[in-house]
Amino acid sequence: MTDKSYDSVMDDGIKDDRVKDDRVRDDAVKYDGVSYDYVIVGGGSAGSVLADRLSADGTHTVLVLEAGRSDYPWDLFIQMPAALTFPSGNRFYDWRYQSDPEPQMAGRRVAHARGKVLGGSSSINGMIFQRGNPLDYERWGADPGMESWNYAHCLPYFKKMENALASAGDDDLRGHDGPLVLERGPARNPLFQAFFQAARQAGYPRTDDVNGYRQEGFGPFDRNVHKGRRLSASRAYLRPNRRRPNLRVLTRAFVTKINFTGTVATSVSYRRNGRRHTVHGAEIILCGGAINTPALLQLSGVGDAAQLRQLGIASVTDLPGVGENLQDHLEVYIQHACTQPVSQQPSLSLWRYPFIGLQWLLRRTGPAATNHFEGGGFVRSNEDVAYPNLMFHFLPVAVRYDGQKAAAKHGYQVHIGPMYSDSRGSVKIQSTDPRRHPSLKFNYLSTAQDRREWVEAVRISRDILGQAAMAAFDGGELAPGPKVQSDDEILQWVARDAETALHPSCTAKMGPASDPMAVVDPLTMRVHGTGGLRVVDASAMPYVTNGNIYAPVMMLAEKAADLILDKPPLPAQTADFYRHDGSRPATAPVESAPVEAAATRGGTKS
Ligand SMILES: Cc1cc2nc3c(=O)[nH]c(=O)nc-3n(C[C@H](O)[C@H](O)[C@H](O)COP(=O)(O)OP(=O)(O)OC[C@H]3O[C@@H](n4cnc5c(N)ncnc54)[C@H](O)[C@@H]3O)c2cc1C
Repeated sequence: MTDKSYDSVMDDGIKDDRVKDDRVRDDAVKYDGVSYDYVIVGGGSAGSVLADRLSADGTHTVLVLEAGRSDYPWDLFIQMPAALTFPSGNRFYDWRYQSDPEPQMAGRRVAHARGKVLGGSSSINGMIFQRGNPLDYERWGADPGMESWNYAHCLPYFKKMENALASAGDDDLRGHDGPLVLERGPARNPLFQAFFQAARQAGYPRTDDVNGYRQEGFGPFDRNVHKGRRLSASRAYLRPNRRRPNLRVLTRAFVTKINFTGTVATSVSYRRNGRRHTVHGAEIILCGGAINTPALLQLSGVGDAAQLRQLGIASVTDLPGVGENLQDHLEVYIQHACTQPVSQQPSLSLWRYPFIGLQWLLRRTGPAATNHFEGGGFVRSNEDVAYPNLMFHFLPVAVRYDGQKAAAKHGYQVHIGPMYSDSRGSVKIQSTDPRRHPSLKFNYLSTAQDRREWVEAVRISRDILGQAAMAAFDGGELAPGPKVQSDDEILQWVARDAETALHPSCTAKMGPASDPMAVVDPLTMRVHGTGGLRVVDASAMPYVTNGNIYAPVMMLAEKAADLILDKPPLPAQTADFYRHDGSRPATAPVESAPVEAAATRGGTKS
C-alpha cells in the first residue's frame, strides 16, 4: 500500500453525484502526485475486470480513471435493456466516432459508437454474449509466441467469468459461479420459432448452446441481462467492490498523456472539470478500447516514430504496429414485412412507452426487459472455411440498431455479415490535441474474400427467410428488396446500407517482440519496448473472433489479471468441441497442439 488511505469513490445518484463530484474534484487535487500500484486508464469492460481482480486481495492500490460519467442506477437508458438504442450517438454516453470516407462504400463515413461511461461499451452495448468459436482461439494460439492463448488456455477464463444460468450444472464447458450472470434469451415469440424451423429447413441444424460444445447451428443466445436489467461489466465487477479501501474510481477524468522517464511509464496526465492533474503509477494499464488506447499511445510517443515525428511528437519507442491491424464486423439488415400481428413493432410506438416503462420500473418485466436479440445462429457460407464465417441475429421487429427507420407495420429481420474478413484498417491520431478524434480507416469490402462472403451472406439469409416455415408470416422483403439480385447489386446495396456491428479490435495486437507489428507481449500484457505500461482491452486481440466481442474482451481481461499479478495461470483445459468435418474431435493437449485451423486467415483451410 502507498502512504494514503483511499476512501473509495463511486458516484451513485444525482444528488450524491453532485456532492461526491465536489469531493472528488478536491480529491483529484489532493491525490495529485500520489502514487498508485496500478493506474487503470478506462473504467470500461476490461477496466472493470482489472479493477476488481487487481484490488481483490487488498495489497495493491488501484486507481481507475474513466473519461465518462458514472453508470447511475437511475439511468434508464443504460439500465433498461430495451433502451439500448438511446445511448448510441448521444454525447453523454458515446464518444461518437466516425470512420474516414470508406473507399469501397462510395466514400461513406460509418458511425462508430463507443461507450463513454463507467462500464464503457458494456454499458451501452446490445448485451449479446458470444464467446466466439474455439477455432478462433486455436488461430490465436497458432501464431508464434501465442501458444498460451489457444482455446485450452482461454476456456478456463471464460468459465471463471461466467455464471451461465441456462447450462446444466455439470456442463464442464460453461462457468457456473462467475460474476457475469448470463440469461438465455427466451425466444418465445412465434417468429423466433419459425425462424429456427426455417433454418433447419434450409439445412442448418439447431444447437443447444452456441457458447458450448457446438457453435455451428441456430438457437437462443445468452445475454448480459439479469432479472430484467443490463448487467454491464461495471455492475458485475466494479460496483460490488466499490467499498474496498484500496480501490478508487474517478469518473469524468480524461487521460491525455502517458508520461515516461526514458522508456518507463511513470504517470498519466488527465483533465477533470477543466483542470489538469497528474497521477503516478508503478504500472499504467491502458483499458481505453480499440480506438482510444492506440490513440493515447501515439499521443504519448509510442507508435510509428516516423509518423509521430510528422506531428512533432518525440518517439519514446518505435512501434509501427500501434493503431494498425484494425478489424471489425460490418452488418446489414434483411427486413421483411410480417403478415401477422405478432412482431415487437407495437412496443416501438411512442404512446406505449409510459406503460412499458412503468411495467419495467415496477416489475422488471415486459418488452423493456429484453434486448430483443434473443436468438440467431452461425453458418459456414462455403466449404473453404473450417468454422462459421457468418453470424445471424434474428429480431422479431424491423428496425435499425439506432432505433431509426422502424417499419410502420409488423416486421422481422436478420442482421448478417462476415465474421473474419481479411480487410484491415488503422487508427491514427491527426493532431497532438487529445480531444481531436483520430482518423479511422476500416477498408470495408476491400478484399475479394470479403466481397465473396457478403454475397453468400445475403443469399443464405434469403434462402432461410424464404423457407416454408416463414411463409405464414412473410409479407415480402422490405430490404434490400426484390430489385437487388445480382452479385453487383448486392455489393452495391451493402456498400450503401451496411453499418458497423461495433466490434473494432486488434489495434495493439499481442505477439512476441520478434513480430515487428506486435505491440503487447502475450505473456505479460506489457507494451514492447517500454516499462510500467500494459494494454488490456479489445486492442490486444490479434484477430477478431467470429461473433460479438464483449465476451472475448472480458476473458482476455480475466486472464490478463493473473498475468499482471504474476499468479500461475489457470490450468489449461483440453475439451472436445464440434468440428464440422470431424477432423479432430478433441482439442489436443496444448503443448503439442497441431493447430490445423490456423492459416493465413481465420479458419480458412489452405
Ligand atoms: C453500441 C454497441 C453495441 C454493442 N453490442 C455488443 C453486443 O451486443 N455484444 C458484444 O459482445 N459486443 C457488443 N459491442 C462491443 C463490445 O461491447 C465492446 O467491444 C467491448 O465492450 C469493448 O471493451 P473494451 O474494454 O475494449 O472497451 P470499452 O468497454 O469501450 O471501455 C473503454 C473505456 O475507456 C474509457 N476511456 C477511453 N479513453 C479514455 C481516456 N483517454 N481517459 C479515460 N478513460 C478513457 C471509455 O470511456 C470507456 O469507458 C457493442 C459495442 C457498442 C458500442
